This record gives sequence, C-alpha cells and structure tokens, in this order.
Amino acid sequence: MCAKLLHEVREEVTDFLSNLIRINTTNPPGNETAAAKYVAKNLEKDDFKCELFESAPGRGSVVTRLKGSGKKPSLLLLSHLDVVAANPKEWSEEPFGGVVKDGFIWGRGALDMKGMTAIEVMALKLLKRNNVKLKGDVILAATADEEKGGDAGAGWLVKNHLDKVKADYVLNEGGGMAISANGNMVYTVQTAEKGIYWFRVRAKGKPGHGSVPGGADNAIMRMNKVVDRLGNYRAKIMLIPTVKQYLTQMAEADKQLRPYLAQILQNPEEADEQLDKLAQRDNYLAEEIRARLRMTATPTMIHGGVKENIIPSECEAVFDCRVLPGHSPSQAMNEIKALLRDVGLDKLEFETIQANDPSESSLKTPLYELIVKVMKEFEPTCSVAPVMLTGGTDSRFFRNIGNACYGFHPVRPETSYSEMQKTIHGIDERISIENLVLGTSILNNIIERFMT
Ligand SMILES: [Zn+2]
Repeated sequence: MCAKLLHEVREEVTDFLSNLIRINTTNPPGNETAAAKYVAKNLEKDDFKCELFESAPGRGSVVTRLKGSGKKPSLLLLSHLDVVAANPKEWSEEPFGGVVKDGFIWGRGALDMKGMTAIEVMALKLLKRNNVKLKGDVILAATADEEKGGDAGAGWLVKNHLDKVKADYVLNEGGGMAISANGNMVYTVQTAEKGIYWFRVRAKGKPGHGSVPGGADNAIMRMNKVVDRLGNYRAKIMLIPTVKQYLTQMAEADKQLRPYLAQILQNPEEADEQLDKLAQRDNYLAEEIRARLRMTATPTMIHGGVKENIIPSECEAVFDCRVLPGHSPSQAMNEIKALLRDVGLDKLEFETIQANDPSESSLKTPLYELIVKVMKEFEPTCSVAPVMLTGGTDSRFFRNIGNACYGFHPVRPETSYSEMQKTIHGIDERISIENLVLGTSILNNIIERFMT
C-alpha cells in the first residue's frame, strides 16, 4: 500500500472503530441493530448495497456482497457486533467512549471484535475502490449475539438466510494475535474450537435434622463427591491435528519451550508432568496447553439447602464441560456418568443446558497456506501456527455446514500476549492504530490474492 493510501486508511479505519465502539452493544440485551445500521451506512458511502436482518427487534445483523466472476470459491468476512459488559469504574478510559489516545483506540470491543469488523469493512472497501477483478464473491457479515452463543446472530442467519451468507471459506475471529516465542513472533490461526457441553446435575437424598447427621442422606455430601470427581478429573489426552501442529511450531520457534513441548509431542500421555514443570515458568501458557489436550468438566455454579438446621434432600450444580474435536457432547456425558457410577447414578439427575459440537478445519487448504505465505512476506522472521480455542466462536455454525473457517485477526502485541488477552472481556481493552493499519494491509493482501 502506498504512503498516501496508508494515511487515508489510518484515519478512516480509526474513525470507524471509534464510532462503532460508541454504539453500546452489550449483550444482553445486544441492541446490535444500531451498530448494523452504522456499518451499512458507512458501506453505502462506497455504493455497497447492504441488507439488514433482525432475528428479533433490535437484534440486527448486516450483510453485503462484492460480486466475483464465479471462477473461484467465495469468501465470507465474518464478525460479531455485540460485546460483553464493561464496568466503567474499573477502566482507565470510558469503555463506550471510543477514546483515541496515545496511539490506541480504547473501548469494549476494540479487540473482541469490533476492531476486526473495522478491518474487514476497510479491506472490502479497498477492493472496490481499487477496482479489483474478483473471481469469487466476497461477502461481509457483521452479526448479533456471538457473546451469548450466536443463535440470534450467525446461527440464525445460517438457519434462515443461508443463501445470503453461504461461502466456501470464512475468515473470522479467534486467532491472529502473535505470541512472542523467545523473541520470535508466532501468529496464530484459529482452525479448531472445542465443543461446549453445559449440564446440570441434581443430587438427591433424604432430609433430616441437622443435629443428627447420620439419620439422613445429605445431598450436599453427595454433590461434594460429584464436584470433586469431575473438577479434578484428568480425561484421556488426545492430540488433534491442530494442537499437534501448534506444539510443533511453538517448539521450533522457542528454544526455551522446546524441551517441554518436544517431550509432550513424543509422549503425550506424560504431558501433565511436563506441563507442571512449565507452569512454574509460565502458568498461563501451561494451563492453556493442558486444556487443549483433553476434555474438561468444571463446576461453575452450586446451590443446595434451605435452612440452617435441615439436612438437604437436594443439591444442584452446573458444569461447564468442553469437548475436543473428534468427540461429541453425548460421548462426554457417557464418560462422565461412568466416572460417577460409585457416587450413585440412581440418586443423580442430569439435565443438558446447552450442547454445541466441537469443530476443526483442515490445515491443508489454499486459504490456510496463503495466510502463512502472506505473513512470511510481511514479517520474514515470523512463523504461523494453527490454534484451537477452548472457548467457542461463530465459526462452528459455518464449519457445521462444511465451510473451511479460519480465525485470523493479525495483531502484534504491544505488551505481552497474555497481558493483551486479559483485556479481552477484561479491563482496558484497546487496540493500537498501528495494529488496525497492519490488520487492514494484511487482510487486504490475503483477500486480493485469494480471490484473483
Ligand atoms: Zn468475539
């Protein structure tokens, strides 16, 4: 990109993001229609035709399309417009003020993920302004409701307006932030995510007087066993292709990590031993890797008892279980029930709250390979590694219908990777203007080369 264009892009993309942050789309309630209208109005300045879809009043998503000749596969630029709540008292700047200060744009959504909406909109406009002859359609969808599961946003669009958003390839959030591996930058591409399985367990017992513990069957004591068993469970380790490749690349890039990661790759069953050692140096990284190797079931809510002196006959707890690609929530349930057999399955009731399948896209597609190539051109010393998120994104809706989805929002960390990650859903979320311009240039380059 030439200097003049870069300067224009810098101002335009900064303004766009700052304005978008100012539209408070905290979900719940979401109120994304206001943001969707803003995106549409902005695109219409460049003569894009936009369509607004509402799954419910106020829950808007916006879609637009740049037509190609049809000789190449199509590409969807996906983002979500909703954000999680932010408490202004905890922040250094107003979280919905769109403050531009010291080279940063501050606010909830700057990284997750209005920043990527801004980059995608800018990249799309540049394709049009530069009159690029596309061989495939490039679609942009900025959607509602991702932070509450996406059923009123991307999931709803896939279900009700598939023709508007269907594409062979999808670029979305979930990867792109570089990890500094002993000084070498490793850019991640999200190629997989765990499945979500939220369930409730109700432990049953017999009530009695609190002063005679042996005379009753205490449901809290039963639940205590369930919580202990599941919370401390270390399920079988499985190395899915994404994680195997991630560990390989990280070991290559980082001399200090290499001994631990090489051991894990060689002897996956003994990974915990290596991770315990690694945790003493870098707890965040070690626990992140541990969660990527197996199914987990974490107790997150518990409730039991009604009065100080009544032994409770009922206690319920909620578990946040995350399932690896290749496994299903129902397989996880069977595994969990087998684990609780001696606690008394006849006195435990299970109820599914939410179940989403895990998903993984191939590392051997032309788009994945191009992302790696372009990154090496932008930053010759960097490497690119696929990554699996332990959380979920809207990519799963598109992987479920057979699209190849990649989470890639290129960001060079100004502080450390973990410090930046903590601002997402945390305090003082912000993105540098440098990173917005970098992201626009990289995305523009990838899209143009992929589609021509
Ligand atoms: Zn997000």
